[in-house]
Parts: sequence; C-alpha cells; structure tokens
Amino acid sequence: HTIPERVALEINSLSFAYPEQAQMALRDISLRVEAGQHIAILGRTGCGKSTLLQLLTRAWEPQQGEIRLNGEALGQFDETALRASTSVVSQRVHLFSATLRDNLLLAAPGASDAELSEALSRVGLEKLLEDAGLNSWLGEGGRQLSGGELRRLAIARALLHDAPLFLLDEPTEGLDAETERQILDLLATVTRDKTVLMVTHRLRGLANFDSVIVMDNGRIIEQGHHADL
Ligand code: ATP
Ligand code: MG
Repeated sequence: HTIPERVALEINSLSFAYPEQAQMALRDISLRVEAGQHIAILGRTGCGKSTLLQLLTRAWEPQQGEIRLNGEALGQFDETALRASTSVVSQRVHLFSATLRDNLLLAAPGASDAELSEALSRVGLEKLLEDAGLNSWLGEGGRQLSGGELRRLAIARALLHDAPLFLLDEPTEGLDAETERQILDLLATVTRDKTVLMVTHRLRGLANFDSVIVMDNGRIIEQGHHADL
C-alpha cells in the first residue's frame, strides 16, 4: 500500500457492539466524508463518538456494515498503511515510560531532534525541554504531565505524523480558553488540506466545519452545516 495524499471516507450502515455487551454502541451509521472536508462530531457523553473514531482506526471490527477509505474497504488495508494514513489524538492519551524524544518518535520515527523540538514549541510545550531536553524521562519513574500537557503532547505527535486524515477526539479538553484558541488555530492551519473528524463539546467555532454531525445513542440524529442545524 502506498500512503494516499488525500483521504475520502465512506461509512455504510455501520453497527457495532463491544465484546460481551448487549447494547449496540453504534447503530446503522452511514456517512460520506469527501477529501479535505472537516467534520465536527457532537453528542452527549456515551453516545458513541469515540467508538466511531476508534472503528476508523480498526481498533475494533464492526459486526455490520463497512468503512471505505478512498473506495477501498478498511479491512483490506495493512496496519502500517492505515497507521501512516491517520493522525490520531485519542481521548485518553497514553504516555510511555520513556524519554520525551521516544514519546514523540513513536509518531514519527524519522524525525530529527530539531523537528521534535519545533513540534513541542508549536503546541506551547517548550517548557518540557528546560531540564534534560528531549532526554527528559516521562511517565513512571519520571515526570508526569498535566491533563492539558498530555493533550498537547498528543497533538504534537499528530503534527509530526502529518497524515492526510486527522481523527481528533476532544483535542482541547482541559485547556484554558486562551490555549484552546491557539491550539484550534494551529490545528486549522495544519489541517487546511486534510480530512478531519473532530469530536468536540464546544459549540463555538462550529461554523468553521463543513458539516456537523450530532449523535445520540449510537445513531447520527442530525447532520448538516452549523447554520442549518
Ligand atoms: P464521551 O463524550 O463521554 O467521551 P462518547 O460519545 O465518546 O462519550 P463512547 O466512548 O464512544 O462515548 O462510548 C459509547 C458507549 O460504549 C458507552 O455506553 C460506553 O459505556 C460504551 N463503551 C465504550 N468503550 C467500551 C469498551 N471498551 N467496552 C465496553 N463498552 C464500552
Ligand atoms: Mg469519547
């Protein structure tokens, strides 16, 4: 598989229940996302937003329906190609017990120290470089990060990975208003030509998205431009 430059998605009648769960987490979801479109996903807690993003990374296989990436069934992609095609900021960010450098390199194995430092400063985390620089030990036995620092580290990883599809699960959760604005501006800039699905609870800024999807109880209940909802 070559890595596509642009990504269009097609989700057809997707239904999914987690293992051992009687309740469906996703019910008959259908959605088309054209290459370069920016989609916001809204809905109350537990309605299935994160589950939908996770199925797009093939973390789980649906019981019914299918997802197509540029016309090809997601199941046909090899894992490496799929990972190279998607930049993910998940809701629960995982910090490895490793150096700051290695925590970033896992998203971009070939990146130079200069590139890693630049990504950190773009998300406002240059402070992390103060003590031991990229050799600082993070996680167990080292420095723990605040919730907001963790999210920005995840965003730095996503920037470094620089894939054509961005899957962002509440990327600014826990950030103060000023930092949130900076991060959203940054994300808007770097994803201008990319396809974006972003889960958000904030209503401000929705007009910047091509389409807004509202989910409830595993279903899409509304879809359209912010101005028409
Ligand atoms: P939030 O806004 O709180 O993040 P969400 O819309 O992202 O909510 P999901 O995390 O997708 O919601 O969860 C959808 C449903 O699936 C919920 O009822 C949740 O309890 C359930 N669920 C989520 N993860 C699992 C799991 N690993 N195993 C079993 N059930 C799960
Ligand atoms: Mg969620």
